[in-house]
Amino acid sequence: MASNPHALRSLAEWLGRIADYTDAITGRERFPIKNPATNEILVAIPSLTAEDANAAITNSLAAAKEWRRTTAQARANILHKWAQLISEHHEALAALLTAEQGKPLVEARGEITYGTSFITWFAEEGKRAYGDIIPTNAPTRRLIVTKEPIGLVAAITPWNFPNAMITRKVAPALAAGCPILVKPAEDTPLSAIALEILAHEAGVPRDLFRVLPTNSPAEIGGVFTKHPDIRKLTFTGSTPVGKYLMQESAYTVKKVSMELGGNAPFIVFDDADLDAAVAGAILSKFRNAGQTCVCANRILVQSSIYSQFIDKFTEKVESLIVGNGIDEGVSVGPLINKGAIDKVQQLLNDSLSQGARSIVGGHPFDSSSLFFEPTVLCDVTPGMPIAQSEIFGPIAPIIRFETEEEAVALANDTPFGLAAYFWTQDLGRAWRVSEALEYGMIGVNEGTISSEAAPFGGMKESGIGREGSKYGLDEFLEIKYTSMGGLGA
Ligand code: ADP
Repeated sequence: MASNPHALRSLAEWLGRIADYTDAITGRERFPIKNPATNEILVAIPSLTAEDANAAITNSLAAAKEWRRTTAQARANILHKWAQLISEHHEALAALLTAEQGKPLVEARGEITYGTSFITWFAEEGKRAYGDIIPTNAPTRRLIVTKEPIGLVAAITPWNFPNAMITRKVAPALAAGCPILVKPAEDTPLSAIALEILAHEAGVPRDLFRVLPTNSPAEIGGVFTKHPDIRKLTFTGSTPVGKYLMQESAYTVKKVSMELGGNAPFIVFDDADLDAAVAGAILSKFRNAGQTCVCANRILVQSSIYSQFIDKFTEKVESLIVGNGIDEGVSVGPLINKGAIDKVQQLLNDSLSQGARSIVGGHPFDSSSLFFEPTVLCDVTPGMPIAQSEIFGPIAPIIRFETEEEAVALANDTPFGLAAYFWTQDLGRAWRVSEALEYGMIGVNEGTISSEAAPFGGMKESGIGREGSKYGLDEFLEIKYTSMGGLGA
């Protein structure tokens, strides 16, 4: 399959820039960043330590004093410049993302566009951090509410969206007037460093936004959670790590936002437009090789259309092309690492041994690679481990149900509550089921729902807080109430 020569050239150029940039950091061990499609080392970068995190905190607090005094308009100008520079390097950043993360180039391009949308959105939203004047409770007094930047923010981000998960946190923090330090995932720090380079080029003061790559996440995470001057921790990752970070943040009573795991139900009712539902399921399930927290995790299909759905869905799955994401035409890339392959294989084995049937796929490509065949599993029952845990791989388990009540009960029978999808043409059902699902995000006749304009986040053990939208800015603001007294009668 043909590689994209322009993408390869711009990738080489950016790997050079990142190597030069990180060469300035001396005296630290280096760790290799590998391309999951080829196992090649892309570049080795320094692993920062607790000492570096503490120094970054001191420096960012100093830089913050001036930043919080700038106007929202001045901050917006710099954020728009950052977005513009990212757009100028769009293709190169997409190639870099594919190289370190594995997703197909077409998806990486989409992620850069999506990631940039948070910058332009929050550049404008920062201008709307309105307060209130409350009707007074005494003639001599006025009650005023203002919103202030919360202070120093620490962010810990995952490997599945190495660009957008950074901008979704950094843009609102900067727009609100806060400094921010980011610890990217150890598998994918390159997109984060590229964003940092371009932010500084755009005029974001150097110490106001720093990326701290490390191969020892707990070391820097420990500084983030314990340090009293970090006022806010924003995390996207697994539920167990999120719970641990929440506990650790309790000692200094930090504000936290947590975007954690999901177990998204994808319900197809018998009155659905079946072809549209199949297309939605393919998108929702196989995007990023199934490695997103809002991926369809359990496909629930009503009994009377169960076989028909499986036939149509399987036909589409068979046409997916697995390969190196940098090659034209590839629709499913590799998984992120060997641990991911082992987990997916284990879930599959357990399901097969408990009576599920694999219709297509079901195997890793070979023992040395990180590719896994897109797989359709039928006769899955709700109690199987694959239906209860987040798969994070290209396996589509299909569960049969009889009634609307049963579908809703199955969908809600999980500690998670991030995204849920369902397909129906019945307006009454659309409202009933939407309201009954205990999820932070619902797609009705939609397989992909993310947008910078909409609040992203979960209920139950899927998280706390919302990112993007008008609600996303509040996560980085404090409310201050001032009672202005002694004003005379
Ligand atoms: P996944 O299982 O998808 O890799 P994780 O929750 O382990 O999800 O990782 C998400 C982010 O959390 C990554 O940046 C990772 O380095 C970080 N992380 C993992 N463990 C810790 C920890 N103990 N302290 C701080 N950060 C951590």
